Amino acid sequence: MKELNRELPDLYLVVPCYNEEEIILESAAIMKNKISDLISQCVIGKNSRIMFVNDGSKDNTFNLLSDAARKDPVYILVSLVGNTGHQNALWAGIMTASKADIVITIDADLQQDINAIDDFVKCYKNGADVVYGVRNTREGDGFFKKFTALSYYKFMHLMGSKILENHADYRLISRKVIEALKEYNESNLFLRGLIPSLGFPSDIVYFDTKERTGGETKYTLSKMFKLATDGITSFTIRPLRIISFTGFITMLFSIILAIISIIEWLQGKNVPGYTTLLLVTLFMSGIILLSLGVIGEYLGKIYLETKNRPKYLIDCVISKDMDDPL
Ligand code: UDP
Ligand code: MG
Repeated sequence: MKELNRELPDLYLVVPCYNEEEIILESAAIMKNKISDLISQCVIGKNSRIMFVNDGSKDNTFNLLSDAARKDPVYILVSLVGNTGHQNALWAGIMTASKADIVITIDADLQQDINAIDDFVKCYKNGADVVYGVRNTREGDGFFKKFTALSYYKFMHLMGSKILENHADYRLISRKVIEALKEYNESNLFLRGLIPSLGFPSDIVYFDTKERTGGETKYTLSKMFKLATDGITSFTIRPLRIISFTGFITMLFSIILAIISIIEWLQGKNVPGYTTLLLVTLFMSGIILLSLGVIGEYLGKIYLETKNRPKYLIDCVISKDMDDPL
C-alpha cells in the first residue's frame, strides 16, 4: 500500500461523465485552474490529476475528453464500456486512481462549489480520512428535486439508514479508505451509505450549489428510483421486518374478526358482510402484493450479488505523459 502522505498529498479529482458534451470542456478548464492553483500554493502534490470517467456517453463527450487527455498531462480519461450508472462510474474512478493519496469525487456539471476543495484538503491534513461535502442550500434545484430529495432523506432515516442529509457524492477519501473499499465487493453499490459505515475519522465541509450551466440532469426519475431503492435494500432489512410486523397485526385483526363473526353466527344474526368482505380482501391483497414486491426486491439483490459480476469494464485509458497512468 502506498504510504499515506498527509503533508503534500497527490489529489485525484474523479469526475463521472455521462453525455456532458455541452459543459465538459468548460468544467475541465475550471478544474484545471483549481488544481494548478493548489499545486502552486503547495497544498497538493505535483502529480495531482483530474480523472474523467466516461460512463458510456453517447454524445461527443469521449472525443472531447480524449483530445484533452492527449494534449494535457493533468487530465486522465478512463472510458468505460457502456453506461454503468453514476455510482459504478465513481467506483471505477476510485479503484483506478491507484497513484492518488486522496480522491475527491465531484460531478461534471460543477453544480457543487469547486472552491470547497481547499477546505476538504485542510480537513484531510488535520487527520480526517473522509470529508463529506454537505450543501448549504438547494437553490439550484427545482421544486420537484427539492421535494424528492427531502422525502428521500426522511424515508431513509425512517428505514434506519444513517446517511448524511444533503450530502451527495462530493467527498474526499484517503488512500486508507480506498484500500478498505476494495474489500467490499457488493454489486449493489451505494457509496453514501457505505462510506460512513466504514467508520474512518471524518469531517464535514459546507458548500453552496449552483444551477447546471448546460445540458440536462442525467438523473432520470428511474435512475433516482433505483438509487433510492438501492440505498435502502443495500443497508437495512427493516422493510422485511415491517412486513412481518404488518402480517402479525393483520393476523391479530383477523382473529378478532373471526371471533366476532362466529359469535354473530351463533346468535343467528345475518351476516351483512359484502362490503366488509370486499374491503378486507382488497386491503389484504394490497398488503400481500406490496410485501411480495419488497421481498422480491431483496431477492433480486441477492441474485445480483451472487453473480458477483464486475461493476464496470474499462474500454481504454488515455493520458499524455505516463506510460502507465494508473
Ligand atoms: N452520471 C454518470 N452516469 C449516469 C448518470 C449520471 O456518470 O448514468 C454523472 C453525470 O455526468 C454527472 C453526475 O453523474 O457528472 C451527476 O449527474 P447529474 O448532474 O445529471 O445529476 P443531478 O445533479 O441532477 O442529481
Ligand atoms: Mg448535477
